[in-house]
Amino acid sequence: MAAPTGPRGASSPTGFEGFPFALASKTPEDSAGKEQEQTGAKKKPCRACTDFKSWMKVQKTEKTTTPVQETVAAELEPQQSVRVDRGELGRNTWSFLHTMAAYYPDKPSSTQQQEMGQFINLFSKFFPCEECAEDLRGRLKTNQPDTKSRHALSQWFCNIHNGVNVRLGKPEFDCSRVDERWKDGWKDGSCD
Ligand code: FAD
Repeated sequence: MAAPTGPRGASSPTGFEGFPFALASKTPEDSAGKEQEQTGAKKKPCRACTDFKSWMKVQKTEKTTTPVQETVAAELEPQQSVRVDRGELGRNTWSFLHTMAAYYPDKPSSTQQQEMGQFINLFSKFFPCEECAEDLRGRLKTNQPDTKSRHALSQWFCNIHNGVNVRLGKPEFDCSRVDERWKDGWKDGSCD
């Protein structure tokens, strides 16, 4: 089966060549669209991309897209057409990265250590916030992932995240509590 291409082969407004999900994908079945129709309220963009089923619906409805709709989509700046903002993307990504570290093996094999290192370096090339990815690549030049154990990796991510926090003027996180935050829950039983 051929890989999906961008709408009608045009350049993707996300700036990701061949990325098929950037244009408005609202279909009559789209629940967010329905809610918006009912309430009249504008909903915050909620997704960076779309699952395959939704993408198929877009392909089916694409033939009915009017030239006006195409023009509007084509005129959107890349940032306007991205469906998740940097803060939301960042929070969700940190959740993934810290949780991944929290469940990394205590005693990883040498292959696992190598692959985790490769994953993080590759991640820094594809993270879809260019400024963030560039910043991370800069950190990786002098501070490669410590993948020798679950504890080491969790601390490494905590320190990297703190580097970003400092850069953004946010408070540093106490890395001795990283397992409480991302694995075991706060000792006092509180929620985030
Ligand atoms: P976040 O910083 O997203 O943190 C989410 C939660 O993680 C917090 O509520 C806290 O409970 C926990 N936490 C905080 N610090 C730590 C830590 N050190 N260790 C473990 N847990 C912690 N934004 C930019 O504007 N510029 C950038 O260059 C940039 N680079 C980024 C690089 C990466 C790899 C990622 C994943 C995100 C980056 N971001 C960047 C986004 C930014 O870091 C935040 O995610 C975003 O500003 C939202 O911040 P927040 O205050 O909601 O909490």
